Amino acid sequence: MENTKIEEINKKANYCLNCTAKPCAQKGCPLRNNIPAFIEQIKMENLKKAYEILSDTTVLPGICGRICPHKKQCQGSCIRGIKGEAVSIGELECFVFDNILEDDSLQNCYKKEIEEKKNNKKIAIIGGGPTGLTAAAFLARNGFQVTIYEKYNYLGGLLVHGIPDFRLPKDIVEKAVKKILNLEIKVKYNQELGKNLFLKDLEGEYDAIFLSIGANKSSKMGVDGEHLKGVIRWK
Ligand SMILES: Cc1cc2nc3c(=O)[nH]c(=O)nc-3n(C[C@H](O)[C@H](O)[C@H](O)COP(=O)(O)OP(=O)(O)OC[C@H]3O[C@@H](n4cnc5c(N)ncnc54)[C@H](O)[C@@H]3O)c2cc1C
Ligand code: SF4
Repeated sequence: MENTKIEEINKKANYCLNCTAKPCAQKGCPLRNNIPAFIEQIKMENLKKAYEILSDTTVLPGICGRICPHKKQCQGSCIRGIKGEAVSIGELECFVFDNILEDDSLQNCYKKEIEEKKNNKKIAIIGGGPTGLTAAAFLARNGFQVTIYEKYNYLGGLLVHGIPDFRLPKDIVEKAVKKILNLEIKVKYNQELGKNLFLKDLEGEYDAIFLSIGANKSSKMGVDGEHLKGVIRWK
């Protein structure tokens, strides 16, 4: 990695005051990510530990770091923002994720946790968007055998077919999905609930079924011309 980039990131991390009250996390972050704690680890150049801290509450740090509305959430609650610029929390979160991508040792540490917590309970997750992926990852880490049933031949949901590449590059989603699936999660693609997949067929096989099929029908805006050719709606 370029030295200038590391210097820039260190400067941004050191700008965090490590507040005891941590309003960024307690008030700002809906996931309650321990923001000052992961930033402290960046200061100490321990990115693995920073990722571990984030992983307690999120399995999509590289994605939240890019697309969360930070100015309204964590950065909007940052003490530093009262008199100046807030800490660049989203950028720091992405930095951690992007730099541990090649490190599989964390996955191995979850493998031990999975082995210890194995409980022989089977869960079906229907829909492999961010909700389904998050549920799948936390359940797998807690010893459940998870199978995701997905309508399309890829996972990620709206992260892939809704959010444009300039905002969220597809390869980042792919890498996040790969990391999640490494937690011994099975996937069955091209399975659409109500079409070629039915709850009654799953009920006997699974201890629980989690529905995470999103809300994909777009609503009408009620403006003139919305039915004209060239106006694109999602289904
Ligand atoms: C254009 C756009 C831009 C956005 N930008 C942002 C942003 O910048 N920041 C932000 O935080 N959020 C953004 N969002 C919102 C974000 O994408 C959603 O909140 C999030 O994707 C919801 O996750 P989900 O898993 O609940 O649903 P989805 O992402 O919709 O995932 C649902 C999954 O279920 C599958 N599925 C659907 N029906 C079935 C079925 N019958 N059987 C089996 N599988 C099925 C789908 O294929 C999909 O994989 C944006 C959304 C859009 C549309
Ligand atoms: S509020 Fe801002 S300065 Fe305080 S711990 Fe959170 S990110 Fe750091």
